Amino acid sequence: MNTTTTSPSDVGLPEGFTGAAIRPGDPDYDEARSVYNAMIDRRPQLVVRPRGAADIRDAVAFARQQRLPLAVKCGGHSVAGTSAVEGGLLIDLSSLKGVHVDPERGTAIANAGALWGEYDRETEIFGLATPGGRVTTTGVGGFCLGGGYGWLSTKHGLTCDNLVAADIVTASGHLLHVTEDTNPELMWGLRGAGANFGVVTSYELKLHALPPLLMAGMLIVPNDDEAADVVRAYRDHVESGPDDLVTALATVLAPPADFVPPEVVGQPMVGIVVVWLGDPAEAEAAVAPLRRIAERGMDLVQPMPYTAVQALLEGFNPKGFLNYHRGRHLRALPDAVIDDYVAIGREIGSPLTQGVVFRHGGAIAAVPEDATAAGNRSAAYMAHPIACWADPADTDRERRWVDRFTEAFAPAATGGYYLNFEPGTTETDVRAGFGDAKYERLAGLKEEYDPENVFSSNHNVMPG
Ligand SMILES: Cc1cc2nc3c(=O)[nH]c(=O)nc-3n(C[C@H](O)[C@H](O)[C@H](O)COP(=O)(O)OP(=O)(O)OC[C@H]3O[C@@H](n4cnc5c(N)ncnc54)[C@H](O)[C@@H]3O)c2cc1C
Repeated sequence: MNTTTTSPSDVGLPEGFTGAAIRPGDPDYDEARSVYNAMIDRRPQLVVRPRGAADIRDAVAFARQQRLPLAVKCGGHSVAGTSAVEGGLLIDLSSLKGVHVDPERGTAIANAGALWGEYDRETEIFGLATPGGRVTTTGVGGFCLGGGYGWLSTKHGLTCDNLVAADIVTASGHLLHVTEDTNPELMWGLRGAGANFGVVTSYELKLHALPPLLMAGMLIVPNDDEAADVVRAYRDHVESGPDDLVTALATVLAPPADFVPPEVVGQPMVGIVVVWLGDPAEAEAAVAPLRRIAERGMDLVQPMPYTAVQALLEGFNPKGFLNYHRGRHLRALPDAVIDDYVAIGREIGSPLTQGVVFRHGGAIAAVPEDATAAGNRSAAYMAHPIACWADPADTDRERRWVDRFTEAFAPAATGGYYLNFEPGTTETDVRAGFGDAKYERLAGLKEEYDPENVFSSNHNVMPG
């Protein structure tokens, strides 16, 4: 749909450019420049919505000729705001939809603008899925290029581990079909640092078979004096349990949902998210120990289709709110850290703020550390404080809460960051994401494919 009033040739794009050009004042401008995190409000000079790789090539060349800072947007979920740009050119990939499933080859090809809800909807028809975003509006693009942890990851790896091929328009305007055979070094870099090397126009991703229904949902207990014991029992169980039992912890305030008694709404709670990926016949037995651990609370674990699993956290993550997150890899969950975790959970201010701890291991850790740019694979858990609030007057309180949460986990932290959850984009942040050795290797790749750092609006690796 093109409801804009700007013609591409008016702004100097080549005659052949078939996409839309959107300038300040055009009807679609605010929607086209908007991103998930309302902390980010940048006004590009021009937004383009390409129709294909040739339009992307033209847009990249245009930005270079005009010396415009360039940003690229897929789902717009970057908490750091790297898919927004002030005064430059934004390539908004939302015009490039479409997911093609090839069940015989066992892969799906997603176009550059696909979101996870769209991807999952198409693959689910075939009973297949790729580890992907746990909120449906997250883009396949930034998610996969930055690593990508989904509910299927402990069984089937990060999203980038499932990347079979990518088509990419480089800074020099070449369209490359990248696979492990054609270009192993660039494929290595795309798997975790991929926003640095060009605009990916499509992704071919491995698919995995799923049963029609998965045992999944949440066990929720009050965050009271006994909550730390529940979390400790959870830890002891998952560390000795099967990899097919996927779990996470979440401290939240009870939402005003149908399943929450009115007197409980707004009370601090601890949730255990559960997804059983093993044999469906063993699901009840697999979930039973966690049910016993949380037996004094609410039990929302039941059979559901994969797309419902993918939407479990949807209500907590609406677009357009102010956001501040972190992603820190953890060696372990020591008792003292658990005590602090539940205590800080009781200090949550905004009803949308969450203190998430993902359990990792399994297929994530089975991939050798050097196999992809994405790393920190041996971490047992990831601490992910998510502050999400509506009123700018609460900004200091919410940021302080995320800082307190992060400090509480410091004794268990590996020092590694998951950059897709990080608001910081300094070289120190980026090095904490990759480690120094990988950073240097990525800098070499950057020198080869983007020596002028045209693609700098990301968790940026400096050329050379
Ligand atoms: C509500 C929410 C839920 C999330 N859930 C998860 C989760 O379950 N697991 C997880 O691992 N992460 C999760 N994340 C983090 C997520 O992985 C990152 O925010 C990711 O960058 C989002 O991708 P996107 O395409 O939506 O973002 P965008 O903001 O559009 O892009 C992010 C970065 O990737 C670049 N980029 C996007 N597309 C391309 C392309 N085609 N070529 C080159 N560069 C490109 C952009 O320029 C930008 O720098 C979540 C984030 C939010 C806000």
